[in-house]
Amino acid sequence: MPLDTTSYEIPVARSAADLREAVTAWREDGHTVALVPTMGALHAGHISLVELAKQKADRVIVSIFVNPTQFAPNEDFSAYPRTEAADAEKLEGKANLIFAPDAADMYPDGFSTTVSLTGVTEPLEGTFRPTHFAGVATVVAKLILRAMPDIAIFGEKDWQQLMVIRRMVTDLDIPVEILGGPIMREADGLAMSSRNVYLSPEERKAAGQLNIILRETAESVAKGTPISKATAEGGKRILALGFDKLDYLEIRDAASLSAYADDKPTSPARILVAAKIGKTRLIDNMPV
Ligand code: AMP
Repeated sequence: MPLDTTSYEIPVARSAADLREAVTAWREDGHTVALVPTMGALHAGHISLVELAKQKADRVIVSIFVNPTQFAPNEDFSAYPRTEAADAEKLEGKANLIFAPDAADMYPDGFSTTVSLTGVTEPLEGTFRPTHFAGVATVVAKLILRAMPDIAIFGEKDWQQLMVIRRMVTDLDIPVEILGGPIMREADGLAMSSRNVYLSPEERKAAGQLNIILRETAESVAKGTPISKATAEGGKRILALGFDKLDYLEIRDAASLSAYADDKPTSPARILVAAKIGKTRLIDNMPV
């Protein structure tokens, strides 16, 4: 398949061969390359990562791939928003290439390999989405190996994912620098997410309070409240807002995501939350 240069202003590679050809040409001209992996439905959070990529490298690839293997059967894979034309428009002047393979190109018949990590994948998201990180690690390994960028950029919005990817790249000696970009938020502090479009106006209002409870819980622990007391209190407040289920509200070591034995942070810590409101599951995190 040739590089698609007619659909949008930015060229689109749909196969690994086309992607490699474009990257090889850039390399021959001495350019450095950054990759920003996404599932599309781009918002200002994604664009901030693309802008960071542009500052750090000469050429920027944005991949758009709704990866089926990171969704469990009961999750929103088929409902996940797909807005390629609008995404391409948002990337104009910011990215040099879109990589948008289809599932058969990424996972052809006979595909048999999974990249799975222990430790950092196990708590938090790992408890509630037990197959998620194997899907993420496998697809990110493939995207990095296909693009061979100097830098790959991920959002702190998915903090545990960022830690998983750092671990994988270290463990497998993948020669790429992993950079994290800060969380972009709406005016009321709600972390931007492609899933926010699922929220009803009433749910959207409650969702905007989640970051405030997160911050207040972190502040309380920073002032000396035991973690278990502060998170129990914060959890109650989240449910009182109208959230239907709290998957977790926890304070953990920011890098390893291990829990604190003494009920107080003894290393750089992070507060992380996942909660469901209606049919939407929201996650957020911040430093303690
Ligand atoms: P997704 O398309 O949701 O898989 O996200 C693609 C990348 O964008 C991931 O590295 C996310 O962590 C990042 N991202 C998503 N939302 C935000 C946000 N609000 N601020 C910064 N980065 C984000």
